[in-house]
Amino acid sequence: MRILIAEDDQLLADGLLRSLRSTGYAVDQVRTGTEADAAMAAHEFDLLILDLGLPKMHGFDVLRRLRARGSAVPVLILTAADSVEQRVKGLDLGADDYMAKPFALQELEARVRALTRRGLGTASNIIKHGPLSFDATGRVAYINDQMIELSARELSLLEVLLQRTGRLVSKDQLVERLCEWGEEVSNNAIEVYIHRLRKKIEQGPVRIATVRGLGYCLEKIAA
Ligand code: CA
Repeated sequence: MRILIAEDDQLLADGLLRSLRSTGYAVDQVRTGTEADAAMAAHEFDLLILDLGLPKMHGFDVLRRLRARGSAVPVLILTAADSVEQRVKGLDLGADDYMAKPFALQELEARVRALTRRGLGTASNIIKHGPLSFDATGRVAYINDQMIELSARELSLLEVLLQRTGRLVSKDQLVERLCEWGEEVSNNAIEVYIHRLRKKIEQGPVRIATVRGLGYCLEKIAA
């Protein structure tokens, strides 16, 4: 799961970065509206956390341009001014949720979970796949109700594959979904993570297929 934070208050942004990263999200930050606009146009994110009072371009304009490009990515607006008009305007422009500063990090985390879940079209925080289940809230995976020991990166990899069961996921897509800007993760490193993940989860019918030269696919399990 990849999140972009558009926030120019560095103290607040640092708190958000710390909290969301410790939960296992890959999080990037921009400090101006124009940067947020460019980043959302160029990269795939699972959620945008958008401050309204941004330098260079107002958050409302970032949101308007995002929706005009046809993007359905969930957007959580942050604002100091909790006026009803602003709230209504944000929602009318296509925001999914709204938080007024100051807020409790715990509440923000819960809303982030709900929004990323909604983005995937699932109502539950638990993704099931045969004997395998993944709990996105607790960041744990189980096989036949036995917890599997997975690193943070292996968990994120598994999450991406589970969200696209039966579909091809390219190595580039995996790098894009798992890595923050400035992080050097090669396609070879992805192969290593896949190898480790396979050793831990490939039991019974669970299989990650390699599609030569293209990527990977978590194979569907016949019901
Ligand atoms: Ca601001």
